[in-house]
Amino acid sequence: EAKKIKNTFVFFENSLKDKYLRQSLIEQELRKAITNDEIYMMYQPQFDSNLNFHGVEALVRWENSKLGFVTPDEFIKIAENSGIMASLGNHIISKSLKDIKNIQDSLKKQFHLSINISMKQFIEKEFFNDLLHQIKKVKFKKEYITLEVTENVFIEDIEFIVNLLNRLKKQNLKISLDDFGTGYSSLSLLKKVPIDELKIDKSFIDDIINDVNSLNMAKSIITIGKQLNMSILAEGIETKEQKDLLDTLNCDLYQGYYYSKPLRKEQLKEFLKTTSS
Ligand code: C2E
Ligand code: CA
Ligand code: CA
Ligand code: CA
Repeated sequence: EAKKIKNTFVFFENSLKDKYLRQSLIEQELRKAITNDEIYMMYQPQFDSNLNFHGVEALVRWENSKLGFVTPDEFIKIAENSGIMASLGNHIISKSLKDIKNIQDSLKKQFHLSINISMKQFIEKEFFNDLLHQIKKVKFKKEYITLEVTENVFIEDIEFIVNLLNRLKKQNLKISLDDFGTGYSSLSLLKKVPIDELKIDKSFIDDIINDVNSLNMAKSIITIGKQLNMSILAEGIETKEQKDLLDTLNCDLYQGYYYSKPLRKEQLKEFLKTTSS
């Protein structure tokens, strides 16, 4: 029995150690990733209910020689906890604006670009100025840019956040609340913040056909958002049944593998050549 416990302990210790080592290696490699040009963006298309193309969400990718592909869920957290997020975030904005502006110009077609903004990046003092500077530099049309933030930004100084959101709005930028319904949020807060779009989290969409609680959550989110004049985007749509059901609830926009997986910029360009409107 004692031996068993000891083994369990050793196993536990090793796995913690492995976890720590992996995180340190990720942090160490991530610090060089931008200069080594290991970071690139993929773009997932978004559509309205009539299958008109609306725009894309930019999703970061990192391929490293020692680590292979590391998922953003893993490395974004590490970037946030090691002070790398502000520079990584700036790099993400820069790449996304350039890639998409390039495609817009060459296809002579305007469409929306959503960029995920980490809370750590959003609350940086220089965020607003850096962003506007970058937009100006590439001459991107501001009304086509959406910033996706998660509810956890509201944990921060709320006065500061509301003020920042208002300044961004004055610049004609749009704000989307990502993963809505999964994090910290208060409904009374929602009416005080200038939000343009709610993204229904994939976890509700996954079970929407079979689980009445998920369906009711989606219904509530749509009702609340509509009352506050927000547009509603459902993410993680994988089947026609999910899309059809959400259509009956008056959802505005859709994104998911049913429409398209995230695409490299060259793939997106080809995709758009064959997509109407
Ligand atoms: P998210 O912002 O909620 O992004 C949606 C995630 O769902 C993406 O995963 C996307 O590839 C995936 N997805 C989209 N449609 C489907 C579908 O139909 N089925 C399934 N199974 N998955 C789908 P990804 O790219 O691995 O990103 C994971 C998370 O990492 C993102 O969640 C976001 O929180 C973070 N992230 C990704 N790119 C960035 C970025 O550029 N900046 C920041 N700050 N965070 C990012
Ligand atoms: Ca997102
Ligand atoms: Ca999301
Ligand atoms: Ca998510």
